[in-house]
Amino acid sequence: MHVTAIIAAAGSGRRVGSDTPKQMLDIGGGSMLHHSLTAFLAHPRISDVIVVMPAGTTVLTLPGVDPARAGALRVVAGGERRQDSVANAFDQVVGSADVVLIHDAARPFVSGALIDRTIDAAMKHGAAIVALQSRDTVKRVARQPGGPVIVDTIPRESVYLAQTPQGFTREVLAAAVAVGRSGVEATDEAALAERAGYQVHVVDGEPGNVKITTAADLEDARHRMGTAREASGPQRVGTGYDLHRLVEGRPLVLGGVTIPSDRGALGHSDADVACHAAIDAILGAASLGDIGRHFPDTDPRWKDADSLVLLREAARTVREQGYEIGNVDVTVILEYPKIKDGIEAMRTRMADAMGIDRARVSLKGKTNEGVDAVGRGEAIAAHAIALLQRVSAQSRAPTSGIRSPS
Ligand code: MG
Repeated sequence: MHVTAIIAAAGSGRRVGSDTPKQMLDIGGGSMLHHSLTAFLAHPRISDVIVVMPAGTTVLTLPGVDPARAGALRVVAGGERRQDSVANAFDQVVGSADVVLIHDAARPFVSGALIDRTIDAAMKHGAAIVALQSRDTVKRVARQPGGPVIVDTIPRESVYLAQTPQGFTREVLAAAVAVGRSGVEATDEAALAERAGYQVHVVDGEPGNVKITTAADLEDARHRMGTAREASGPQRVGTGYDLHRLVEGRPLVLGGVTIPSDRGALGHSDADVACHAAIDAILGAASLGDIGRHFPDTDPRWKDADSLVLLREAARTVREQGYEIGNVDVTVILEYPKIKDGIEAMRTRMADAMGIDRARVSLKGKTNEGVDAVGRGEAIAAHAIALLQRVSAQSRAPTSGIRSPS
């Protein structure tokens, strides 16, 4: 699959109070553009990247861009409005591209998981954007001489705040660009796709994926990058282990999938050892304790709990601490039955619960060769390892200068 990312960096962005366009301002370890660009260039599913720069920019110097990926990067000149810039970039998208993502350079905290989710949704639905459900009550106001007055309260469940990336199949984006060129004005490509008659789906955004607009936003971003650099390292690993007794009359749940079996694991929750080991691995990688601390078995809320729900919570917890999940690898040790047929479904369910791509989740089955309690079929065990990455991981690769084709 060919996925092209367009990074919109042609705006003048002066609301931050600097003469330099905001996307070129340093937020620690590089400019906003640099952080946005490296997030896409380093992503394994991104085939190439087109950066739209202000007209007249000929050379883009980006410390930290892997020279091996420099060939996947092109620069095009922007137009007057954002939609003109994206249209210019679209003209450079190869005909074989399946999906095109558009991202604002001013959102430097975009995560690999968000990129994954947008690609998947764009493939599935044709058009998808990342958006965050409003946490605040939303009021519609009318401007009056005495000041704004509330006209209406909008249910916040129906209000989503658009972020980027926005993703489209090539055909849908072609139609959206054509609508824009016909004279329709819009602030984003999703609005143009709507005008072209397409349904645009919404993918869950991340609160950390902020757009840097004001001087205060810029200060926050610099603080966040600084805090990230002071952390003990850009990547952290954690391990997890779990064991449950097997008894008759209980379902055998593994990775959220019920496996046909004459016995199942005994426990307070659904006793899913694959999920429990994975939870301990990701919590451990972030030094956040273990499953027992977050979901105590004395708490009736977790009685017979679906462990996928616990896994989702654990993933949310580490994400709130500024990490994204790089990958998780689980080994299940079980004498019988064989779990081979359920493995793909388990990977999918665990990946969905963690909000990451399925390719980042591995699950293997082993027997204990008839030895010990596990070997006698009296217990089931699982080991897991997880890699977490700081959202703002710093790259130390050498500087590359990428020359514009024009
Ligand atoms: Mg357990």
